[in-house]
Amino acid sequence: MRDKTLCVKRPEVSHEGFASLAIPTYRASTIVFDSAEAYANRKYRGPDGYTYGLHGTPTSRTLEASITALEQGLRTVLVPSGQAAITIVFLSVLMPGDTVLIPDSAYPPVAGFCENYLKPRGISFRVYDPMIGRGITELIDETVKLIWTETPGSTTMEIQNIPAIVAVAKARGILTGCDNTWATPLYFKPLAHGMDFSSMALTKYVGGHSDLLMGSIAVKDIDLHRRLKDTMRMIGLGVSPDDCALALRGLETMGVRLAHSGRVALDFARRIESRVARGLVLHPALPSVPGYEVWKRDFTGASGVFSVVIPAHAEDALPALLTAAKTFSIGASWGGTHSLLAPMTISRVTDPDTHPGTILRISIGLEDEADLWADLEPIIDAIASGFATAKTA
Ligand SMILES: *Cc1c(COP(=O)(O)O)cnc(C)c1O
Repeated sequence: MRDKTLCVKRPEVSHEGFASLAIPTYRASTIVFDSAEAYANRKYRGPDGYTYGLHGTPTSRTLEASITALEQGLRTVLVPSGQAAITIVFLSVLMPGDTVLIPDSAYPPVAGFCENYLKPRGISFRVYDPMIGRGITELIDETVKLIWTETPGSTTMEIQNIPAIVAVAKARGILTGCDNTWATPLYFKPLAHGMDFSSMALTKYVGGHSDLLMGSIAVKDIDLHRRLKDTMRMIGLGVSPDDCALALRGLETMGVRLAHSGRVALDFARRIESRVARGLVLHPALPSVPGYEVWKRDFTGASGVFSVVIPAHAEDALPALLTAAKTFSIGASWGGTHSLLAPMTISRVTDPDTHPGTILRISIGLEDEADLWADLEPIIDAIASGFATAKTA
């Protein structure tokens, strides 16, 4: 071969004896074939074969397989965001005329997708009270094809009764899915509780370092896997092997990160609850919170995100107290090593009176807990002193 060809065609080097613990980042758009015949027959490689970089590389397959094992599923697909993990499920199973049921506590862009994307295309949605449990049966008619759940709910942290919803759905032949981002499969396994789809924003705890965006959907049925892969191929979705390598690295430390963040978060939640009115601290492992009994029954742990309802008397003081925080940063997209505070407002369809003011979402990272508490204490003081004044007035 001549020099310019040698620049392009690399010589083969031996991999013999190279047993690294690192995950190779396999990049590819093109996949090459040994023969014209192999190329002509590439579609027979099936959804697990390699045909094109967009549809999978050994790096993405390694991440898929890791998540499949943790979720106790059969296959996992990877998509570019946690939001896409939800929308790809909806797009894969819903047709014009169908209806999806979503909880009022869902990650807010889910309702936005239903209202602004699905509804104009003839797919309906109905919003239900996350505490509905078996009562979901009242909302079901022959158009309902999917029941979506998220447990605990975003910001308001209600724990849903997944087995009760699954029982109703199975009896009516309706598919079910669960956004499992908060618990991760370390603390809850939606597929083992009968759900058909378990999605995660890998952006949060799996990535764990606030530097990647990705979503996963795990299933235990090969036909549902094919339907997800078909949708992704039609739309042209895939993920970068670099991001998969970062997610695989994040996954290695997720167990210790979750254990630490979960312990500090629960300790803080209890400390805060002892100083403010009951019901203001929204953490699934507090007996005062809706769904606590279900959490205790179905979950094996709690991660590091919880919320505090800011009463009206502390609203005005809050912005300055957040800005003054030294260790916490202010921002959304939790689950990383940096602790975050995010003032949220919610709007509810099923009960518009649910927490009308600000809810402070707290994500505990890996900083020293004394530094974190020093930031929280003035906020808790502002809440607690308001109650003292209200009582004496
Ligand atoms: C953040 C989040 C998502 C969306 O994840 P992105 O990767 O940011 O799109 C979905 N569900 C839940 C519960 C989340 O917290």
